[in-house]
Amino acid sequence: MRLTILSFILLLCLSSAAQDISRPKLVVGIVVDQMRWDYLYRFQDRYSSGGFKRLLREGFSCENTLIPYTPTHTAPGHACVYTGSVPALHGIMGNYWYDRHQKRLVYCTEDTTEHTIGSNSTAGKMSPRLLWSSTITDELRLATNFRSKTISIAMKDRAAILPGGHASNGSYWFDNASGGWITSSFYMEQLPDWMVQFNSQKLPEFYMKQPWKPLFPISTYHQSTSDSNAFEAKMPGGDMMFPHDFVASGNHRYEAFRTSPAACTYTFETAKAAIVGEKLGADEITDFLAISLSSPDYIGHTFGPNSIEVEDTYLRLDRDLETFLKYLDARIGKGQYLVFLTSDHAAAHNPTFLSSHKVAGGSYDPGAVKRQLNDSLANVFHVTPLIEHYSNYQFFLNDSLIRAEKISKQEVKNYLSELLIKHHAISQVVDLANIDGAMLPSPVDMMVANGYNQKLSGDLQVIVKPQWMEHHRVGTSHGHWNPYDAHIPLLWFGWKVPQGKTNRQVLMTDIAATLAAILHIQAPSASIGHVIEEVVR
Ligand code: ZN
Ligand code: ZN
Repeated sequence: MRLTILSFILLLCLSSAAQDISRPKLVVGIVVDQMRWDYLYRFQDRYSSGGFKRLLREGFSCENTLIPYTPTHTAPGHACVYTGSVPALHGIMGNYWYDRHQKRLVYCTEDTTEHTIGSNSTAGKMSPRLLWSSTITDELRLATNFRSKTISIAMKDRAAILPGGHASNGSYWFDNASGGWITSSFYMEQLPDWMVQFNSQKLPEFYMKQPWKPLFPISTYHQSTSDSNAFEAKMPGGDMMFPHDFVASGNHRYEAFRTSPAACTYTFETAKAAIVGEKLGADEITDFLAISLSSPDYIGHTFGPNSIEVEDTYLRLDRDLETFLKYLDARIGKGQYLVFLTSDHAAAHNPTFLSSHKVAGGSYDPGAVKRQLNDSLANVFHVTPLIEHYSNYQFFLNDSLIRAEKISKQEVKNYLSELLIKHHAISQVVDLANIDGAMLPSPVDMMVANGYNQKLSGDLQVIVKPQWMEHHRVGTSHGHWNPYDAHIPLLWFGWKVPQGKTNRQVLMTDIAATLAAILHIQAPSASIGHVIEEVVR
């Protein structure tokens, strides 16, 4: 008898589990372009209680989330978050990559068959056609027979297009020519009324009336180098020092606007308009809003991680986040929406700044290196140029010249490798046709292999010493395997997310797999991620 009652209870539990495929009303993905994981803590003393601290306090933090491929750039980063995949499998090799057949650099979302919607500029000749994989946003659309809606928004085209996927209902990015949001004919033939109305407010002009001044007295920014230093570049058309006056930027004022925290506020305001205009999260069919905040990347590149500009950007972004979460609470309902916040890559410290504190690092000029190498190769093989192209840390050899001159490609590769390893900035040279032969330590080996695409990659890849960068005597960049570029924040918050954190290693590819598990939908078509069990439980 007892057994029968137990079996009955068990059956009841099982059947309720089987029926329990409830989903959040809205998923909000927030990618903060160039956000280092340590910014969650570094600036915490002046964060509000309702922004990053609320996500940490009420949500779940994957503290040790790493990018599993190189190069750690914006386009592969956004592609990886939303496909759960890597350049080897999704085809987005960098922001640009070299096409051997066309003999030119290809932009990750270029598409000359499309035209701009919302402006007369050419900035809308874009689509996600170069992305080989489906995205988690595509899969949600497929899983609901296209009743779910996806909207994606970012100042950068690639940061809106790649997250929105192929079946996006609207992916919008900023157009410097018109000073408003545009899209591509890939998605629609005209902007929706809500967007036309939003653009007509000319909010960027409103924001740019005020110069960018620090939120607090400038003398209280103890986390950063003083404003006057040798490690920063200038605002587009403007100055290195606060206050950053947009009027002074003249014709470059929209570039300056992109390079300011006001553009994050503007992006959040646009997201709110999209929620209302598209009725996102208004019914039981889950919608997806993919936001990417591009300004922190522009600001980081210009001023570097140890600048007052970067510190102030995160203090302001934190307050914008607080306002946005309150808005979602009121509009969608507390616990009715799911948020994840991550970044597409992090960033290195400025090498000159590090040197000034005796920390290892430096910068070099890859263009000069390429020229010298071609000269040295010409002395040995008596033809030139044997290096056809260099980008994304990869050398593309001149196959047609090698074939025509009947030279052994392997001999050219071997000799070039010998030359490259002598360079003071380079620590390893990898023959991409034989990655195992480089005997790389396993995490680096995995990252190079995941970034290697048999159809699209070059012949040799260089790995530079830690904190060595191409150019960048001022400002900073990213792209390498190292933790300063590859360690990103990953926070989960809202719908059924438990409170807590893990220091277990999680990979960027796990984000889409985890979303698929939470939503009970198929993982994207090239996903190699694992479900983060702690979040789903
Ligand atoms: Zn980026
Ligand atoms: Zn960047």
